[in-house]
Amino acid sequence: MGSEPKLSVLFTSEEIAATVSKLAAEIRQDYLTKHPILIGVLKGSFMFMADLIRLLDFPLEVEFIRLSSYGGGRESSGKIKVVQGLRSEVRGRDVLVIEDIVDTGLTISFLLDYLRKKKPASLKLCALTDKPSRRQTPVTIDYRGLTVPDKFIVGYGLDWDEGFRNLPDICILEGED
Ligand code: 5GP
Ligand code: MG
Repeated sequence: MGSEPKLSVLFTSEEIAATVSKLAAEIRQDYLTKHPILIGVLKGSFMFMADLIRLLDFPLEVEFIRLSSYGGGRESSGKIKVVQGLRSEVRGRDVLVIEDIVDTGLTISFLLDYLRKKKPASLKLCALTDKPSRRQTPVTIDYRGLTVPDKFIVGYGLDWDEGFRNLPDICILEGED
């Protein structure tokens, strides 16, 4: 155990809200008449999902899926599995995956492959944040929010060892290596 972890604000709640509005406008244009299923990846996307769907004024459904990838640490293990699956039938539906962050890309690539096998009518990805410097596999992010540097971020749903999810800002966590 080292000293207290240090947090520095990377994106304020106002910047996040503006980004969520921008993404909602893009999504609205494409899904207005499609009655899509939005699938949030637990746990990190819950806050983003809640704010996003309040700005989407058309019929949609909400699902969540839980994957295991990180454990308690910071590095993606690359070994991913579905811990809690879907309740809705996605076959033939327009599916939009809602992610908190795309880092190495391993988790989301696994999930997109998993969902593609279920034969949705369409499958797209919306990610609030993107850490492109760490990518290990190419990922197409159809609706892309904020670019983050090669730092570990917490807040607005994102955790460090289950802590800090409740911060309204997105912060860089320093000094806990
Ligand atoms: P990937 O498989 O793309 O490396 O990482 C996917 C998952 O790792 C994300 O959905 C997120 O849960 C977690 N993750 C990656 N980078 C960060 C980060 O900077 N902060 C936090 N809190 N989680 C991260
Ligand atoms: Mg996630």
